[in-house]
Amino acid sequence: LTSGLETAWNKLKGEEVLTKENIVEPMRDIRRALLEADVSLPVVRRFVQAVSDQAVGVGLIRGVRPDQQLVKIVHEELVKLMGGEVSELSFAKSGPTVILLAGLQGVGKTTVCAKLANYLKKQGKNCMLVAGDVYRPAAIDQLVILGEQVGVPVYTAGTEVKPSEIARQALEEAKRKNINIVIMDTAGRLQIDKSMMDELKEVKKVLNPTEVLLVVDAMTGQEAAALVTTFNLEIGITGAILTKLDGDSRGGAALSVKEVSGKPIKLVGRGERMEDLEPFYPDRMAGRILGMGDVLSFVEKAQEVMRQEDAEELQKKIMSANFDFNDFLKQTRAVARMGSMTRVIGMIPGMGKVTPAQVREAEKSLKIMEGMIEAMTPEEREKPELLAESPVRRKRVAQDSGKTEQQVSQLVAQLFQMLVRMKNLMGVMEGGSIPALSN
Ligand code: GDP
Ligand code: MG
Repeated sequence: LTSGLETAWNKLKGEEVLTKENIVEPMRDIRRALLEADVSLPVVRRFVQAVSDQAVGVGLIRGVRPDQQLVKIVHEELVKLMGGEVSELSFAKSGPTVILLAGLQGVGKTTVCAKLANYLKKQGKNCMLVAGDVYRPAAIDQLVILGEQVGVPVYTAGTEVKPSEIARQALEEAKRKNINIVIMDTAGRLQIDKSMMDELKEVKKVLNPTEVLLVVDAMTGQEAAALVTTFNLEIGITGAILTKLDGDSRGGAALSVKEVSGKPIKLVGRGERMEDLEPFYPDRMAGRILGMGDVLSFVEKAQEVMRQEDAEELQKKIMSANFDFNDFLKQTRAVARMGSMTRVIGMIPGMGKVTPAQVREAEKSLKIMEGMIEAMTPEEREKPELLAESPVRRKRVAQDSGKTEQQVSQLVAQLFQMLVRMKNLMGVMEGGSIPALSN
């Protein structure tokens, strides 16, 4: 999905604003990327329509390129598509909260039982697991072992008792022991069949659960959304848990479930360890799907910074190439306000991630830079080419600031590099060049 979307953005590079015409091709790429990610066609259609409607007529924001604006719109629509907000688990007002887990075989139900107990235990809840998969003794053993691992009691009644009867007994025991949360594991099947649905309906009637969560495997793509729909119609569910997200690179299931079934994904599993369960955050998922670094916060921050009074003047200077060391300092400090230069660079698609160590390094070099600029004459600050042309001047600046000549040379080169980079950012670029320093 990510690479398909990147193609879409690239087609917009160099455009001034988003128009009906210039978004046609990127929208086609987005459509293809979604279909390849196994998102269902009706969902793709609605999505593309919503993004197009938003994109056309979006005004020009200085410092933000149209492709970045489109990224932002796509991100917002992705978040909406996945339900917008985090969908929290509900808890019973009185008595134990009962969570019933359902799902096909092998999707991760039994694992989720223990992960969920572990997750809720950390929130101070006192949990009990119920072994309701009576068809395989191994399934009961598996739950008992996992329960021990996370330190949560497991209610078992063997394989001879009906699941609805196990549910009744377990609920009684939970009330007696003042348990806050009862999580019941059930048997899956390879495919949906009537006996499974009947069994679940019966168990549900006995438990009157606060949550009925369908566990689905992210790797099944569109199929996951279809399953959520079917289970919801048959037994009535409150949401889904998407497992094995660690093995899914396409994101189709995450995108479709809410839109297709009307039911939210509440939690996601990202691995086999007991800690690998977390709430489903639509905005983080959208960011992950876009996989483009944090473009969104870049767009927002750029909007913010560009609103500042000197932005306009600065831009004029950059465009006229009258950019000197005074501006360099001013700009570098303005960028520091945005969270430091390297962080900003890291937000730009295709530039890769920036580590905290790199950020610290950048802040340190800002200090060094300031020292050297202070050692320049006012004339040198205004005419950086003086330093580019004269090794003697660079040597003097080095001596006065207590830095090496090499550091001064680097600073001068950096100024010109930055000029080019900023022209790039402002979208007025193509054609800046970095002069070679004369010796
Ligand atoms: P059940 O048949 O639905 O109860 O599925 P299980 O809980 O027994 O899980 C089936 C297999 O999937 C096990 O090997 C689990 O370790 C594995 N599994 C479950 N959840 C995840 C997950 O989020 N990521 C990965 N990679 N594996 C998982
Ligand atoms: Mg199981």
